[in-house]
Amino acid sequence: MNQSIFTAIDQKAPELTALRRDFHRYPETRWTEFRTSARIAEILTRLGYEVLMGQQVCKPECRMAAPEADVLEAARNRAMAQGADPVFLESMKGGFTGVIGILRRGEGPTVALRFDIDALPLTEATGHRSDREGYRSRNEGCMHGCGHDGHIAIGLGTAWALMQVREQLHGTVKLIFQPAEEGAQGARAVVDSGHLDGVEYVLGAHMMGGPETATGQIRIQSGKTLATSKFDAVFHGTPSHAGQAPEQGNNALLAAAAAIQGLYAIPRHGTAGTQINVGTIRGGSGRNVVCSEVRLEAEVRGETDAANTYMKQYAFRILRSAAEMHGCTVDITLAGEAVSVENTPALSEQLARVWESMGLPVQRRFDELWTASEDFACMAQRVQQQGGQSCYFRVLSACTAGLHQAGFDFDESALPTGVKAFVSAALELMK
Ligand SMILES: [Zn+2]
Repeated sequence: MNQSIFTAIDQKAPELTALRRDFHRYPETRWTEFRTSARIAEILTRLGYEVLMGQQVCKPECRMAAPEADVLEAARNRAMAQGADPVFLESMKGGFTGVIGILRRGEGPTVALRFDIDALPLTEATGHRSDREGYRSRNEGCMHGCGHDGHIAIGLGTAWALMQVREQLHGTVKLIFQPAEEGAQGARAVVDSGHLDGVEYVLGAHMMGGPETATGQIRIQSGKTLATSKFDAVFHGTPSHAGQAPEQGNNALLAAAAAIQGLYAIPRHGTAGTQINVGTIRGGSGRNVVCSEVRLEAEVRGETDAANTYMKQYAFRILRSAAEMHGCTVDITLAGEAVSVENTPALSEQLARVWESMGLPVQRRFDELWTASEDFACMAQRVQQQGGQSCYFRVLSACTAGLHQAGFDFDESALPTGVKAFVSAALELMK
């Protein structure tokens, strides 16, 4: 592999930073990544990629937890006002965001590179570097606080670089710009829509680091993350006068309270660590009314799929039993799910060697688990089930705060490193 493409990528650094900052200014949460997707589609089209959008990316029956119609409409209008191409917007009607760019180069393996594109419902901290340098989030209560703006810039830089070296590629590259990673909905939808079928290699990456981290290295861990299931429960009871006739009511609040106590009391699993969290509870209409409706948002996690399934089934049983105990009913909806999958060790080793040979420093932590969830695992699982290989790695960067924090920002000089990692991996796997 020759170094000239790396030199060209280095020269693109200012453009990568500008791209990242553009996406940072206009963050969008799950299934509302309208402007984001339109921008990506515009760039991929210009570069000469075959572009899939809208329901070609996620089939309607494969999608979980789509926002309400009014939320989608408001987000689409905002995207329009913020310069999104109306033609692209039209194809995403109903919140079918996300983009896939395909480059076909004849015989050879299909390699999928995944970049997540969504932001978080978070208000950017005041005094953030974005204030001083003009890229603060223009979308109130929404922020790229997990570095996915960087992932998009890396993905688009990779798209550009792969076009420069296309003569050296044999096979098909799929660049998957995946919506709705936060909450673990997007990857499952893309997988169930068939886009990982026939893929031999799938790669994904995340920005990571603390204030002391040296920017510009790659870290490969086990790839193993926590399996997780997100779910919403709505308890339905019967309202009544709290003083005159409480016996005529069925108190949904009581059912929900019993459920929460029960959920946190699920016994641990003997073979793997488990977690549970009830994150929100909303309900009730007045002090003197027996409450007839309560909504909970909760999640379970497990170090293995089996442990996560155990937690999910136990949790659902508790929700149903707690409802019954107080004469209520409960509707449970799955709002997101990710499995736990390890990197293919042979691929991790192969990529580590390639990167090192190209002068990219690699930290090998092949045994290390990441105690978070990442829905890339759904893609990795699908590819491995077909006999393919997967690798999830970290692009290390000095970060000002932890992921999902209002003060989060990263050192943009990591962007070319990310592009180099993906491009050299594709060149290696498709030579
Ligand atoms: Zn993230």
